[in-house]
Amino acid sequence: MITEQARIKIEKVSTSKLHNLAEEDLQFGKVFTDHMFVADYIDGEWTNFKITPYQNLSMSPATSFIHYGQSIFEGLKAHTGQDGKVYLFRPQANIKRMAMSATRMCMPPFPEDLFLEALKELLSLDKAWMPKKDGSSMYIRPFMFGTDEYLGVKASDNYRFMIILSPSGSYYKNPVKVKIETNFTRAVAGGTGYAKFAGNYAGSMYPAKLAAEEGYQQLIWTDGKYHRNIEESGTMNLMLVIDGVLVTPKLNDTILKGVTRDSILTIVRDWGVTVEERTISVEEIVKALEAKTLEEAFGVGTAATIAQISTIGYEGKDYELPNVADRKISGKLSKYLEDYKRARVQDKYHFLEVIE
Ligand SMILES: *Cc1c(COP(=O)(O)O)cnc(C)c1O
Repeated sequence: MITEQARIKIEKVSTSKLHNLAEEDLQFGKVFTDHMFVADYIDGEWTNFKITPYQNLSMSPATSFIHYGQSIFEGLKAHTGQDGKVYLFRPQANIKRMAMSATRMCMPPFPEDLFLEALKELLSLDKAWMPKKDGSSMYIRPFMFGTDEYLGVKASDNYRFMIILSPSGSYYKNPVKVKIETNFTRAVAGGTGYAKFAGNYAGSMYPAKLAAEEGYQQLIWTDGKYHRNIEESGTMNLMLVIDGVLVTPKLNDTILKGVTRDSILTIVRDWGVTVEERTISVEEIVKALEAKTLEEAFGVGTAATIAQISTIGYEGKDYELPNVADRKISGKLSKYLEDYKRARVQDKYHFLEVIE
């Protein structure tokens, strides 16, 4: 419940840390802006909405999320448009997804209207930190965690919600070599795979490390029961083009409902590309690789937008994919999405939210 005092208090920095944003040197998630948004859930309601100088947290060693993992997050971006204005890309989709993650982890969703207000207020305040170059963006990280000082295992009664901003540089990555994982599992039916829940990422690191030792930069996760059907690629949704048809695993509780995935499906359907959201078996992929009908494979997500896959490894054998330069659909999408986010094309699907 939101009461009268549901206003955001703003405490500005006395001097900005920003001298000169060296855009060429920006990496991902290493630099943070002057301010952050903070709110607390106390006595059954969200309260203390404030924007403060970016600073460290201080907490009890008994803070519940450290022990029992009630911790969720989101990731979205704002871009500088060609008109110089700041545009958020589909913030409502992330706001809704965070509410879904919260519900799964037995946490109280943050009020949607305040979430958007906080995002806009914060971005507006730290506007000078917006990178401008193509490929660069302001990465926005909302997150929430349980704050009870109590070691008993139970859902926390108190929570903190925060938003921090990280100007991030142009993100060019070479196409990756991926391995179809048939031993470890990212998500199981009835589990937490569809939530942007911290523990999902913790569980994926050891399998990723083992794959890296074999020379693979990324994993393709398969279903937890039989390892027969593919699910996601690392922390991105997976898309394939087979014989001109764009295929992607259909959503269920083991797959994270990506905003990039949804945006791409909307766009390519509009372009007249046939889209199939369905079960995709490893066997089908291997057959398509052998028959050379697998034309494109790529991961899709906010951080990299489109991450091309160059090689797929399965049971000790590596299959090479067609040259990235020949990939019509993902090539066209990469360019269109960059133009779209920077308001260089018409906002046909109402994906953009301008910051005044
Ligand atoms: C965040 C994420 C994605 C991509 O979602 P976007 O909304 O497109 O950024 C896909 N899979 C997993 C596991 C993720 O955490």
